[in-house]
Amino acid sequence: MASRHQLGEPVVVVAGVEKSFGAFAVLKDVGLTVRRGETVCIIGPSGSGKSTLLRCINGLVPISKGSITVAGREVNDPALDKLGLRRDVGIVFQQYNLFPHKTALQNVMMAPIHVLRQDKVAVEERARKLLAKVGLSDKLASYPGELSGGQQQRVAIARSLAMNPKVMLFDEVTAALDPETKKEVLVTIQDLAAEGMTCILVTHEMGFAREVADHVYFTDGGLIVEHGPPAGLFGAPREERTKAFLDKVL
Ligand code: ADP
Ligand code: MG
Repeated sequence: MASRHQLGEPVVVVAGVEKSFGAFAVLKDVGLTVRRGETVCIIGPSGSGKSTLLRCINGLVPISKGSITVAGREVNDPALDKLGLRRDVGIVFQQYNLFPHKTALQNVMMAPIHVLRQDKVAVEERARKLLAKVGLSDKLASYPGELSGGQQQRVAIARSLAMNPKVMLFDEVTAALDPETKKEVLVTIQDLAAEGMTCILVTHEMGFAREVADHVYFTDGGLIVEHGPPAGLFGAPREERTKAFLDKVL
């Protein structure tokens, strides 16, 4: 939904990024820019390097060449403020990895208290608000095992938001969910995007990407084959590889 709101300055800038695991090049000259308030979707076949790219952006995987800046921080600077990066970049995976012996509320409170050393009373108030925002006010005291997959995923989103990130990365967060719970998670992400959160989503939900993305990147074989606003990319793809992929998934 381009022009839904004013886009701000670049928050994530990926330029000329290459990443190899041994002799295997997973990312070959990847570039993208995500501005404040923008929602970017990355689509492409399995193995094309989408997860690796997200992991490079949040510093989990070091790049072999090129540059990545997040909120002005060079991610691969040896003097990187790692805590600052961890605060600025929220990431949610397909596996939610909540602490099983902590309630939903405690899960959301952990990082601000133990990593950021914030005041417990203030953190709890904020955690309650975040769980309300993701529609889980009635599940504060529930343990992960008592929640559906979609509810757990929404706790995981609230937990990331508790760090007050500048950008949220979502890596196929609905891939393991059944259709009904998938919907609640997608609506939660759509609400976040509509509020102006900067989001990068790797997704196989093409309808969702088409609806919420300001910009879509199609990756294949470690390259960005084509990118543009969703109407163009989905409606009139320019590249054969994009067409072939969309024919398969749409
Ligand atoms: P996608 O998310 O698009 O499916 P990935 O980024 O997970 O793709 O993986 C891209 C390629 O890189 C795959 O061939 C995968 O096997 C390989 N790969 C990913 N992580 C590693 C790793 N830590 N070591 C070696 N190869 C890896
Ligand atoms: Mg992946």
